[in-house]
Amino acid sequence: MNEPGRDAQLVAALGAVRARIADACAAAGREAQQVTLVAVTKTRPADDVAVLARLGVLDVGESKDQEAVAKRETVAALVPDAAALRWHLVGRLQTNKAKSAVTYAHAVHSLDRPKLARALDDAAAERRDPSLGPLEVFVQVSLDGDPERGGVVEADLPALLDDVAGRDRLRLRGLMAVPPIDSDPDEQFARLEDLFARMRAIHPEMDALSAGMSGDLEAAIARGATHVRVGSALLGRRGPVVG
Ligand SMILES: *Cc1c(COP(=O)(O)O)cnc(C)c1O
Repeated sequence: MNEPGRDAQLVAALGAVRARIADACAAAGREAQQVTLVAVTKTRPADDVAVLARLGVLDVGESKDQEAVAKRETVAALVPDAAALRWHLVGRLQTNKAKSAVTYAHAVHSLDRPKLARALDDAAAERRDPSLGPLEVFVQVSLDGDPERGGVVEADLPALLDDVAGRDRLRLRGLMAVPPIDSDPDEQFARLEDLFARMRAIHPEMDALSAGMSGDLEAAIARGATHVRVGSALLGRRGPVVG
């Protein structure tokens, strides 16, 4: 059980985040329904996921497969329609976690190499319940060209998009990026918007852009983000990442 007052805290934080999304959409001349809020619940307990689910937040983001697996189990015992939740893996995914991830994930936002595309596709063939549909994939791009931080560099992006698009059990949704620390988010998301437009000329089936977090969701929505991944603004400061 959550500590007393936690539900009210989450209600208030969710209201504030939804208002920020609505304002950013209005400023950009977009409809608020065009933006999906993914609540990034890493390091937070299953109780928080359950409260958010009751408040209608059905898209849940986790960075680690192991944490997601454990939390899903607990959430299933807390929320009557836990099956309606869509689990998004937003952190770097090791290839050896593909077999687990495909059994429950709705989307992977951090696909950044052909080896992972192949591992997910192969694992889905073996282990994914067909009723889940194809695994949705956002290809993570490196905006500063430093692949150490995750993300494919621009030169390798077209080939990776072709690879993902050609796989039966993956559905290419679009691109994802995290701006480098201390960069200007507006500049970074403008580059991402431009890159997305150029890649859509080749892959018009891409319809989603995963960009924007607690600190910069307005800048991302101004540049066309369809999925914002919000952690601390909803759930408060995180504890140390474990697992
Ligand atoms: C943790 C995390 C988020 C959420 O970040 P906040 O700043 O807490 O909103 C979003 N995306 C990714 C990839 C993350 O790892």
